[in-house]
Amino acid sequence: AFDVLLVGGGPAGAAAAVYAARKGIRTGMAVERLGGQTNDTLAIENYISVLETDGPKFAAALEAQVRHYGVDVMSQQRAVELIPATEPGGLIGVRLENGATLKSRSVILSTGARWRNVNVPGEQEYKNKGVAYCPHCDGPLFKGKRVAVIGGGNSGVEAAIDLAGIVQHVSLVEYNEQLKADAVLVAKLKSLPNVTIHTNAQTTEITGADGKVNGIKFKDRVSGDEHLLPLEGVFVQIGLVPNTEWLKGTVELSRCGEIVVDAKGQTNVPGVFAAGDCTTVPYKQIVIAAGEGAKAALSAFDHLIRTPAP
Ligand code: FAD
Repeated sequence: AFDVLLVGGGPAGAAAAVYAARKGIRTGMAVERLGGQTNDTLAIENYISVLETDGPKFAAALEAQVRHYGVDVMSQQRAVELIPATEPGGLIGVRLENGATLKSRSVILSTGARWRNVNVPGEQEYKNKGVAYCPHCDGPLFKGKRVAVIGGGNSGVEAAIDLAGIVQHVSLVEYNEQLKADAVLVAKLKSLPNVTIHTNAQTTEITGADGKVNGIKFKDRVSGDEHLLPLEGVFVQIGLVPNTEWLKGTVELSRCGEIVVDAKGQTNVPGVFAAGDCTTVPYKQIVIAAGEGAKAALSAFDHLIRTPAP
């Protein structure tokens, strides 16, 4: 059995693994894809002390550090069930898709999240070539250019306000008749001179040429008219989905499926901690996920030294 078992190995899981292994305790990691979302990232320019790197390089560096400390990495493994301990300090089980069950005295859940796709032609083709999901990450790449934001909920409207300060022009495209964001955000958005809002607008295609986005097509759901907006970037902001479906009914989740954690990263299940994009901690960023992972590992260690095995 392990002392600490990580489920997931993005920035949160990798940081937790390094912190746990450096305590000299038995540390394992079950992970589908080491590096997580960073594998899909082009430029990373906001990880403190690293002026610029790219996703695959960042993911490779995470893996090298995890392996340097002798973490028992089980790659291409998908966890499908968490089995809480039956007595205080007892072993917690993590069942894998392949049928095996791993046992550990503590578990750190760090399964991350995925951006919801709009599923229109052009989205996959131009991902990272004009189609983006994270305004904090990729906004500056569109300085002085024209962009659209798909989605008029809080994240879409926040993204549009944020981007309006960087880019030349923002078109916000919302499917429904009204923006669903908080009134104060909508008022702020409407006050900005370089933002146009399209409601009742169904995105039908992201167009491009020469391997880059050059426009967005949408249908006016009232008149039925098709419109084409020429632009250089599209931010899809229709939701971030935590990878926590497998924990429903075992661990307390928020309304949107995020694992509820306290200030120490502890979940409602004894000995089970969580960190990164899969939790209720706001602002989904690498530096935040890594910090939360380190914190969860220290909390797990603290739990271990205070909880005798039965
Ligand atoms: P993730 O990176 O999502 O890692 C989750 C891990 O869990 C993966 O290893 C996955 O394989 C594994 N996993 C999931 N489910 C299971 C399961 N059931 N069993 C086993 N393993 C599982 N942030 C920045 O700070 N700067 C940027 O420039 C930046 N750019 C981005 C660009 C893109 C295109 C995207 C998508 C995100 C970007 N982000 C950026 C956000 C950043 O990547 C995330 O905040 C960060 O990766 C979250 O780390 P995490 O460890 O919580 O989760």
